[in-house]
Amino acid sequence: MKIDLAGKRVWVAGHRGLVGSALLRRLQGEGCALLTASHAQVDLTRQDRTEEWMGDTRPQVVFVAAATVGGIHANNTRPAEFIHNNLAIANNIIHAAHRLGVEKLLYMGSSCIYPRLAPQPIPEDALLTGCLEPTNEFYAVSKIAGIKLCTAYRRQYGCDFISAQPTNLYGPGDNFDLTQSHVIPALIAKFHQAVTTGADHVMVWGSGTPRREFLHVDDLADALVFLMRHYEGDSHINVGTGTDVTIRELAETVGRVVGFQGELRFDASKPDGTPRKLLNVDRLNALGWRYRVGLEEGLRRTYQWFLANLDSLRG
Ligand code: GDP
Repeated sequence: MKIDLAGKRVWVAGHRGLVGSALLRRLQGEGCALLTASHAQVDLTRQDRTEEWMGDTRPQVVFVAAATVGGIHANNTRPAEFIHNNLAIANNIIHAAHRLGVEKLLYMGSSCIYPRLAPQPIPEDALLTGCLEPTNEFYAVSKIAGIKLCTAYRRQYGCDFISAQPTNLYGPGDNFDLTQSHVIPALIAKFHQAVTTGADHVMVWGSGTPRREFLHVDDLADALVFLMRHYEGDSHINVGTGTDVTIRELAETVGRVVGFQGELRFDASKPDGTPRKLLNVDRLNALGWRYRVGLEEGLRRTYQWFLANLDSLRG
């Protein structure tokens, strides 16, 4: 089975975000009519507005990349926004897609849906087998609901709705705000600042021992288009590289890329989060997809983008 995107009205929900903007870049040249909706045009947390906009524009294919997202601190301090906005967005889009007969929909979850102490690398069927990581459980619960919505609408109504669980993402268009961001943009901004000011050390949150897997967002966009074309099934699919690094190793690599030669210091007052989060990507590999951008190369590209966009990032 292969869905042809050419000539289709394809909606990228969340097109201004890290993933949505990468999807727009990836879909250029596929011959589809790309649909986007700014927040001013439609508030996706409102069922009436979402149905009205989708009814007017009639997307045939939908990528759900719209979400309230953030790093460990943002998740810890804004739990109500994370659970409410993400539940509403998933519920509204998926239900409207069913009512309006959308041909295919891909919902994006997150690797934090898995239990905190899941077997590593984490297989898809580890979902709902244990307790979630407390620093992001509200976000995780909303993402699990999104995945289950896809499964439920497939089972009851035969909708071709699928879901993908990306590992930790990074790349151009990321959020570099130190209190809200994930670790890679935070470290890029901190090391850049240290080089610019001549500081002799950089503070890294936590112990440096947690392990994380990182995927460049252009690879993710390619995988999502691949799944949209080639995958049809009940189970969500993990998307990652299959390799991980410690936060200390990551910080050393970012330091090398940015040209920082000082000392790393670890701030034990900040949370480590889950000890390890590495996805088992055997299913995705068996379908025929593999990542291309290695971590150091991806960090170089992201730092280039950061330098080229410093003015707008300063806001
Ligand atoms: P997580 O994967 O959901 O835990 O999200 P993050 O990307 O925010 O954090 C990953 C790991 O990087 C955690 O162990 C953090 O404590 C660690 N970390 C180290 N320095 C930083 C930093 O400056 N910002 C963030 N967000 N995380 C950091």
